[in-house]
Amino acid sequence: MKFISTRGGEKVTGARAIVKGLSENGGLYVPEKFPQVSREELEAMLEMSYAERATKVLIKFLDDYNEKELLSACENAYSKFERNDPAPLVKIDDGVFMLELWHGPTCAFKDMALTLLPYLLRKGCDLCGIKEEILILVATSGDTGKAALEGFKDADGVKITVFYPSDGVSKMQKLQMSTQEGKNVNVVAVKGNFDDCQTAVKEIFASESCAEELKKKNVILSSANSINFGRLAPQIAYYFSAYADLVSSDQIEMGEEIDFAVPTGNFGNVLAAYYAKRMGLPVRRLHCASNENKIIADFLATGVYDMNREFYKTTSPSMDILLSSNLERLLFEASGRNAKLTAQRMGQLKEAGKYEITPEELKFIQETFDGGYADEETSVEAMYSVFEDVGYTMDTHTGCAMKVAQDWFEKHKKDETKTVVVSTANPYKFPQDVLYAVTGNDVKDSFKGIKRLHAATAMAVPKCLIELRDKPARFTKTADGKKLFEEILEFIGK
Ligand SMILES: *Cc1c(COP(=O)(O)O)cnc(C)c1O
Repeated sequence: MKFISTRGGEKVTGARAIVKGLSENGGLYVPEKFPQVSREELEAMLEMSYAERATKVLIKFLDDYNEKELLSACENAYSKFERNDPAPLVKIDDGVFMLELWHGPTCAFKDMALTLLPYLLRKGCDLCGIKEEILILVATSGDTGKAALEGFKDADGVKITVFYPSDGVSKMQKLQMSTQEGKNVNVVAVKGNFDDCQTAVKEIFASESCAEELKKKNVILSSANSINFGRLAPQIAYYFSAYADLVSSDQIEMGEEIDFAVPTGNFGNVLAAYYAKRMGLPVRRLHCASNENKIIADFLATGVYDMNREFYKTTSPSMDILLSSNLERLLFEASGRNAKLTAQRMGQLKEAGKYEITPEELKFIQETFDGGYADEETSVEAMYSVFEDVGYTMDTHTGCAMKVAQDWFEKHKKDETKTVVVSTANPYKFPQDVLYAVTGNDVKDSFKGIKRLHAATAMAVPKCLIELRDKPARFTKTADGKKLFEEILEFIGK
């Protein structure tokens, strides 16, 4: 399987796509075509472990990797999760299920891909004959940073620097990153919001002079952001796994179509669901959930993507994004894989902060996707109502998806399609906000929040979060967005 750029011009192997992260002309790598999973193959998944299911999905794209080795890498990655099943389904109501993707080492769904990415990258370098040291750069809205740091800490031949917006992550997320252990890691706060941070990092990736300077030091850059196909591919697997679990627990018939509701920021998670559908998974609709930064909901309704709007800081910070990078991959599909048109739109987005797709393209997208959003009040209502009705606690991001799913149920009362709400973070990652949602109580301190939330919900508290209280901060620097390359040079120190 070869990969092409959404902006044209390149054709590379899976290994190369993962190592490079972003194509030369700034486009994103997409598979040349969607590999198909047959009904027999889907049926065979019913009996498989999660790692086996993931391997079957991954090898369809990454056929330059070795399947046996991939399986042991998946087994190793998913053994870092706190239970046997890294992506369990929980039924909360008739026809409504939660897909919990936060049982990994950093309590957010990013672990599903970032526990495996170090292997995909290291092996990718071997397959491409790359001998240089790899420097991973990450711009994070909170959860990716920590998950990438954990995934790559102390890995051979790799260093990692994470940049996060100084005023755009939760207290818990900040603590998780500033206390990170490992000898090959660096964490820097960047003045501004996530879009500023992501733009500054993208500029380094696009800069020839930076690449040259690093080359002299025998270092090449790679990305662990969700635009990397190595992030996307492991995410496709859990949609297959969820489906297999629904069939094997007799909740649906094999072949029955289901819906997913997905908390959406950079559009990576929901795009993985779309890729699963294109591979033959019986998916009917994808409900995309935004918070008050509802640029995607507006786009899905109107076909106009317009960044000229206010940016809101919300209690679901991992979705506080206006520049939703992975949407480019969907645009590419909607345009009939027209690379020239996709490049043109991305140019317009960069210059004017805006583009518009054609009515035909919008229709194509709306056949599968619909969007909705939750503001601060309605997401709290959704979290509270589920807690009150069935005693299930969810985090603030998942709360947005729950609200959007509830809106759909309300509007389509006769619709019997089963819905899986994708749950992206452990509620204890946002303890004060979740506590407020389920009890109405405010506390000033995150650890008090954890304690009270435990008292209210009796949900187990993850050790990795409790431990943060006593860990010393190692990284406390805040840098200007224009000075990030200097930070990088200082870190690699050669
Ligand atoms: C990253 C993240 C999201 C958004 O996912 P995308 O793939 O960027 O759309 C939602 N919820 C949580 C908790 C996250 O960490």
